[in-house]
Formats: sequence, structure tokens, C-alpha cells
Amino acid sequence: HSSWSYNLETPVYVGKITAPTGLFINGAFVDGSNNSTIDVLNPTTGEVITQVSEGTSKDVDIAVEAAETAFNTAWGLKVPGSVRGKLLAKLATLMEESTDELAAIEALNSGSTYTVMREWRVPMCIAFIRYYAGWADKISGQVIETDERKLTYTRHEPIGVVGQIIPWNSPLLMFAAKIAPALAAGNTVVMKPSEMTPLTALRVCTMVQEAGFPPGVLNVVVGYGNTVGAAMSSHMKIDMISFTGSTLTGRTIMEAAAKSNLKNVTMELGGKSPNIIFNDADLDQAVKWSTRGIFLNQGQMCFAGSRIYVQSGIYDEFLTKFTAQAMQRRIGDPFNPDSNQGPQISSHQTERIMGYIKSGIEDGATVHYGGYRHGGEGGNFITPTIFTNTTPGMKIVREEIFGPVSIVIKFDDQEDVIRQANDTTYGLAAAVFTQNISQAFEVGHALKAGTVWVNCYTELSPGIPFGGYKQSGIGREYGSYALEHYVNVKAMHVNIGHKLP
Ligand code: NAD
Repeated sequence: HSSWSYNLETPVYVGKITAPTGLFINGAFVDGSNNSTIDVLNPTTGEVITQVSEGTSKDVDIAVEAAETAFNTAWGLKVPGSVRGKLLAKLATLMEESTDELAAIEALNSGSTYTVMREWRVPMCIAFIRYYAGWADKISGQVIETDERKLTYTRHEPIGVVGQIIPWNSPLLMFAAKIAPALAAGNTVVMKPSEMTPLTALRVCTMVQEAGFPPGVLNVVVGYGNTVGAAMSSHMKIDMISFTGSTLTGRTIMEAAAKSNLKNVTMELGGKSPNIIFNDADLDQAVKWSTRGIFLNQGQMCFAGSRIYVQSGIYDEFLTKFTAQAMQRRIGDPFNPDSNQGPQISSHQTERIMGYIKSGIEDGATVHYGGYRHGGEGGNFITPTIFTNTTPGMKIVREEIFGPVSIVIKFDDQEDVIRQANDTTYGLAAAVFTQNISQAFEVGHALKAGTVWVNCYTELSPGIPFGGYKQSGIGREYGSYALEHYVNVKAMHVNIGHKLP
């Protein structure tokens, strides 16, 4: 195995960036058992950045064994939470010292703009690690009163070897937010990043080494979903899978989990989130948050506010101002300080999104703005797009597009918009914009979604649970809620003096 490094000279980052290219198993970087590699592409140019080792089901076996040994000897119940917390805190510090470099690798590999990475997302990843570092020695059970001759209490014990599978749309954030609660609770981890965006995860593994985590506590096996991902989902010695990705893949993983060892699963899946704007909203603010809600990260957000419902009194004005915001999006190289929209992750995704735009047109919706590739054919850039004149049955209204495509829908009354907003198989997020406090609560409580934003969008925080209703997921990530999934609760009944006759 080897490593990759590159001297970047951009307006915002000048310097070396580097990452190992092997699999990270049992504390060391190793080649995959097939000696094959995967090309990692730069979505901005389509060029190959580097090649990383391709994991196989055999490598999953090796990683699971390492994780199991680590769990039984050097982690799990063998070390106090304070030790786990100290190591996680050290990892956070090391990441913080490399914030610029992590932001640069992430921007290069995922196409998200460097500025957003540097100012917001990488710091958030670090905040996640630090947040759970703080939890590690505060995970405890309860003493539950029964009767005087009994002591009953619970223990929150780590589950064991946890498999984690993540997507490409926010690679480092997914990685950090997944490993932190699992490790804090005492589990060991086998992680599969997306085969398209493995570089920041591998870079952080060097910091895991440097921080001094025992070998095998965290293992990263890069590989394809239908090989490595499938092997993990059906593995008899993986006790739980935490997955983030599409609803379709989530279903496949659950099936494999059910057919193998009935491992626990938690799932963060897709969405088609409604964003509701009432006549009395602060219009300029609603426009700005809605723009961020759908166009940030090229629209590649599971919680994207893709269905924007606007009350009829302000519909025209909203549309004018929202369109102006879309027109002002500066599309281009993620390392250009002026860019606030980079490329979609791949040509495949770009084609997929363009296919949705075409279907919207064929179904009779109006492209109010955009609808075409930015910079001509070939590249992965898509102009922010606004559809109007849609009907509820259209594909673009029902399905997750996962790109910079918004749908603006006019409504009149509250009951009707709640009904429309909830008319979806998803339930990840929703938003309400209004100055009327009763209306904000009323609508917020009626929406079937795991997150409801009031007068904002895209706000996330390590301590606040995140997850979906309906087909948007199972379980919650972030906060103390995530920890509940990563422990087994054991009830201890201790007899203190009750003798059988
Ligand atoms: P995807 O489901 O295709 O892939 C996600 C991960 O699963 C990848 O690592 C992939 O290699 C792996 N995978 C693919 N097939 C597999 C299989 N058969 N068995 C096991 N693993 C397999 O999703 P994607 O296209 O990478 O990501 C986009 C999707 O992720 C969108 O639907 C988006 O909404 C969702 N997402 C959800 C959240 C959330 O928190 N709810 C966050 C980000 C993304």
C-alpha cells in the first residue's frame, strides 16, 4: 500500500494535501486482498485524483476479526469511558489542527466548496467528535426501585462490532457523526465510506493512529456497496449496522440483516422535504433560508427543502426574489473563493438529475428558471433550477432528485398545505416560515417529519437528534438519542435477602 499527496495551489488553499490509499485494518494501512484499486475522481474535472485499495468480503472478515479482538481486549468493557473520551478528544484536536487540509481534500474529492468546508462543515465534524468525547464517561444505567429485598439496576453495555456504511454527499460529516457515538459507547467499528469519496476518512485514520486508539477499534474498508457493503450487512459477527444512504439500499441492507443474524439496524435515508412559507413570513429571510435549504451543497442534501409551498398572497413576490437568489448563485470551481456552488458528485448523478428535469418538462411542469447544464455538455455542473405549475402526482414532486432542483407550489389554506406536505413516503425534515407563533407550533406539530425548522433551514447540531419518519429512516443520530442505539440495556436483579421456603 502507499499514500497519495498533492501540492494544491488555489486562491484559497496553498499547500500539500495527503492521504493514505490503503484499507485501514487493525491499526495499519494495508492493500486489499485482491490487490485491486478503485479510481477516485475529481468531480470538478472528471480527472483521476488517485487510486485507493479496493476492499473485498475477505477484507471485511479480516476487519471484523480485528474489531472483535479489540472489543474483547482493548475497548468495550475493558477500558473506562474516560479513556475513550480522552482519545476522542485527542482525535478532535488533531483534526482541528488540520482543518484547512481536511477542507481541501473534501472539496477536491466531493466538489463542495472549500469555503463552506473550511468555515462550517469541517468545524462541525470536529464538534461532533468533541461532543461525544464528552459523553463517553457519562453513559450509565439507572437504579430502579422495586422492593426492599431487591436491588435492580440497568447497565448500558456496548453492543460489540458495529458496521457503518455512508454515502458521498457529505463524506467527512457522515464519517465523524457515525464513528463518534459508536466509539464513545464502547463499540468497535468497521466503516465503509462511499467508494467515490474515501479520502478524508482515510486521512482521519492517520490521526486515529496518532491519537493512540488501540488497533482494531476503528477499521475502514473502502469498497463497493454490492461487495463490501453486502458482506457487512450479512456478516454473522457484525452486531449492528448503521447506514446512511438511499431508501432503496436501506431496504436491501435490512433484508440482509434479517436473513443473517438479525443484526440491529439504524437508517438515515432519503427525503422530499416540504418548506412552507405563510403570507406573514419575513419574506427576505424566508427567501434566503429557502435558497440555502435547496441549493447548498449542489442540492445534494438528504434534508433538502425541495418542495417549497408558498401562500398565495406572497407567491409572486417570493418567486421573483427566490429566482433572483438562484440567478446569483455562482457556479464553478469549489476552490474559487467566489463560487458557492460546485459540481454534482459524478457524471452519473448529473445525468440522473437531468433526467428528472426532463421528466418534469414532459409531465407539463414549467421550468421557471434554469433546467440546463452550466458550462455546456460534459461537465457535472447544473444551473439552479426552479419548477412551477406542478401537480401532486408528478415524479419531480414525489421523488428525491438530490440535485439543485426546487419546486415552488402555491397554496391557500393551512389544512390543505399540511395535507400536501405530509403526502409523501418520506419524513426526514420540514420547515415553516411565519411570524404567527401559534401557527408555527400548530403546523410544526402536524408535520410528519423528524426535524421541523421554524424560520430557518439546514440547522444541525451535534446534540440535537436527527432522523426520519416513515421511509426516511429508523432511529436517530446525534445527541444522546444516537447513543441509545449503540448500547444493549442489561437489567440486573440482585436478591438481597429474599429466601425461598
Ligand atoms: P446509496 O444508497 O447508493 O449508497 C450509500 C452507501 O451504501 C454507499 O457507501 C454505497 O456503496 C453503499 N451501498 C450501495 N449498495 C449497497 C448494498 N447492496 N449493500 C450495502 N451497501 C451498499 O446512496 P448514495 O447515492 O451514495 O447517497 C445518496 C442518498 O443518501 C440519498 O438518497 C440521500 O437522501 C441519502 N442520504 C441520507 C442522509 C440522512 O441522514 N438521512 C444523509 C445523506 C444522504
